[in-house]
Amino acid sequence: MSTQPAIPGVRPVLAAVEGMATSDGAGVSMTRMLGTPRLRTLDPFLMLDLFGSDEPTDYLAGFPDHPHRGFETVTYMLAGRMRHADNHGHEGVIETGGVQWMTAGRGLVHSEMPEQTEGLMRGFQLWINLPARLKMTDPRYQEFPAASIPVEARDGGTTVTVIAGDTARGTAGPVRAEATDARYFDVTLPPSASFVEPLPAGHTAFLVLFEGTLTVAGDAPLAGPLTGPRVIVLGDGERVEATAGAEGARFLLLAGQPIGEPIAWGGPFVMNTRDEVMQAFRDFEEGRI
Ligand code: FE
Repeated sequence: MSTQPAIPGVRPVLAAVEGMATSDGAGVSMTRMLGTPRLRTLDPFLMLDLFGSDEPTDYLAGFPDHPHRGFETVTYMLAGRMRHADNHGHEGVIETGGVQWMTAGRGLVHSEMPEQTEGLMRGFQLWINLPARLKMTDPRYQEFPAASIPVEARDGGTTVTVIAGDTARGTAGPVRAEATDARYFDVTLPPSASFVEPLPAGHTAFLVLFEGTLTVAGDAPLAGPLTGPRVIVLGDGERVEATAGAEGARFLLLAGQPIGEPIAWGGPFVMNTRDEVMQAFRDFEEGRI
């Protein structure tokens, strides 16, 4: 927790939380960064998994057919390839550097399976909640390969890959996330480089440090540079400021408008009430999805 006086306009660091090793799907080893006993949810963000291994036994089992309803899943591949297929005939491969932003809406059943059988597989899957008015919307995909995702070059070799939302300098990501006005940036800082980015006041915001070390303005003065993988939760303010350590740093910057509604979460379904979750299970069992 931050104990130093607030820097005017800078979002303070509220918490810096390490991920927890977990297993999901048919036995995929991963690090759960958000949606754990240490860090349950950050409205509108529900869950974040970091999968990363060069051991095929850690990922080959993949995620066979499973349903979703009531939120969005965002898969961003840092390395390797993931094939997906759903019960409406939508199918494809997310290649290295590519993103799939899936609005599950009223529901679908899909599989997510590694396309490769050897080598490094690494990426993130984020779950973003939907407001009640959109939970039963038609399923929708926004999919982009690396070549369609702009990279904003800043002074000194800093790069910002803009997946969703707009940077303050005007680079627009290809994904439009109207429901939560979400921003999803992948930031790479050379050693000792600094990063400053204004963010809308009132948006939930956090960094996900996954390479190198980072000092975030507004952190406790004696905390020193942070290491990853770690979620750095920011309080409210006008902007985030961070400086890489001697090894440089790479992190996600995620921000979105809180929904502020009750969350009823049952496995792959995230609704507002327990009855709605039970209905989702019944619909799935009876094939109404
Ligand atoms: Fe899924």
